[in-house]
Amino acid sequence: MYGRKVLRPYLLCFFLTMESSTANILDGKALAQRIQSELQQQIQQWQGSIGRPPGLAVVMVGDNPASAAYVRNKERSCQQVGMNSFGQHLPTNTTQSELEQLIHTLNLDDRVDGILLQLPLPEHLDSVSLLYQIAPDKDVDGLHPLNLGHLVRGEAGLRSCTPAGVMRLLEAYKIDLQGKRAVVVGRSILVGKPLALMLLEANATVTIAHSRSPDLPAITRSADVLITAVGRPKLITAEMVKPQAVVVDVGINRVTDETGKSRLVGDIDFESVAATAAFITPVPGGVGPMTVAMLLQNTVSSYAQRHQSVTKHP
Ligand code: NAD
Repeated sequence: MYGRKVLRPYLLCFFLTMESSTANILDGKALAQRIQSELQQQIQQWQGSIGRPPGLAVVMVGDNPASAAYVRNKERSCQQVGMNSFGQHLPTNTTQSELEQLIHTLNLDDRVDGILLQLPLPEHLDSVSLLYQIAPDKDVDGLHPLNLGHLVRGEAGLRSCTPAGVMRLLEAYKIDLQGKRAVVVGRSILVGKPLALMLLEANATVTIAHSRSPDLPAITRSADVLITAVGRPKLITAEMVKPQAVVVDVGINRVTDETGKSRLVGDIDFESVAATAAFITPVPGGVGPMTVAMLLQNTVSSYAQRHQSVTKHP
């Protein structure tokens, strides 16, 4: 019964909707702010009985500008939620044994619930050996082999902040992972490997792709949930993504645009992929703020664990 005049505007409207369809944003910044205000309330509730707030020691060696910016951000976030932050900023020529002594002191310091060793360290230092010396119950970066072992076994323990942040973001947006095909691009011990284990724990079918994987587009196109942690701008373009996939971009790359302005981008070609994905994280404002929120969360968990008489029986 519809005449042409009635149908035409309807069709136009339909095609316009199709063309302008864009992915929903996984807003890590907003979620991180919510988590941080919940942590702030929790700290206020506990610290009267415990007699002190949680404390995080951030150890940084040298003057790498990117690391300095991350450290400033972490210390600012600590203060915002009412935690103590003990900044340990050491010169580039700090020796391995001086750092070992510092970690030993922080391990024994009752005011310190979490120790973070900001990576990368200058080349003369052995970061793996230092990470192994952090007390596992203060290892808020989740990089000690005991905590990584707990993750492999699916047991409770401190989890790496960035992968934990990705999982929390997916959970907050009710992204169902059960039986879904998840592809992680990148296999670092910091992000790719622990993330793959967490996705497995959530019952996804997980593939890890890396620099030696042939035909990356064929692998990424198979993903219902695609997560990249590589560090290469525009590595993933729209043709490499399954329509309606969930896309999470962990990568952080500083690029200079045509006007000479410097800005941060991820590994995903955001504009093209946002037109085909169902959900996508922005860079900045996606995984980055979630990493900081999980660092604070881990420090509060470690504090709560240390004061169970108060935190288990408020
Ligand atoms: P990494 O250099 O240790 O690992 C990079 C991984 O990418 C490697 O496993 C490598 O095999 C893989 N890779 C390299 N080139 C590839 C290619 N062409 N195709 C497929 N795989 C390739 O880096 P990382 O520490 O895991 O960090 C990865 C990225 O994530 C970086 O951009 C880093 O800045 C960022 N990052 C962000 C956060 C955050 O909070 N958002 C936290 C940590 C790292």
